[in-house]
Amino acid sequence: MPESSALEPPRDCPACPRLVAFREEQRARRPDWHNAPVPSFGPERPRLLIVGLAPGLQGANRTGRPFTGDWAGDLLYATLLKFGFADGVYDERPDDGLTLSDARITNAVRCVPPENKPTGPEISTCRPYLSGELAAVADGGAVVALGRIAHDSTLRALGVRLAAAPFRHGAEHALGPVTLFDSYHCSRYNTNTGVLTTAMFEAVFARVLAYLG
Ligand code: SF4
Repeated sequence: MPESSALEPPRDCPACPRLVAFREEQRARRPDWHNAPVPSFGPERPRLLIVGLAPGLQGANRTGRPFTGDWAGDLLYATLLKFGFADGVYDERPDDGLTLSDARITNAVRCVPPENKPTGPEISTCRPYLSGELAAVADGGAVVALGRIAHDSTLRALGVRLAAAPFRHGAEHALGPVTLFDSYHCSRYNTNTGVLTTAMFEAVFARVLAYLG
């Protein structure tokens, strides 16, 4: 498990009562799982920050590394490897040796929410951790928001009005020191229903790569 840093909530973060109760339930049910806030993954001053929604119950909440162990991770890590933002082999385990290159992955909400649906107050309560991650992105860097909730929380963390930069898959928003790239979330639901294809997802990262040069 990665070491705690200033950007990481404590393992027993008490701030969201509903998520704490769900976490305790999962700890009792599966003591062998991570069942705690999931730390971000990647170097601490990246040029690319990827913001997801929240840990999946049997993905990151189980393994302790963002997007690791579920379908969303299969597509995300394959794409990062393809565009040179990751090195090694992704094997759905936090000890698979995969490393990120100048890229970091975080979530708008660090604890697994029931049914993958955090509430507005939970998203707000966890935002200081996202703000810390955004502040650590190198000037001229890129942020990829996976889905509207990640997009909106990123804007709020940066003090940008939502109406000034509406979410749209493929959109790019210049926000001062960073540029925000929007993508539909790479969830199994979105890919199974054709809302997001591999080609659409890769096109976003091709743009990011071109932007970062
Ligand atoms: S979601 Fe964030 S703020 Fe809420 S309990 Fe988990 S780590 Fe703490």
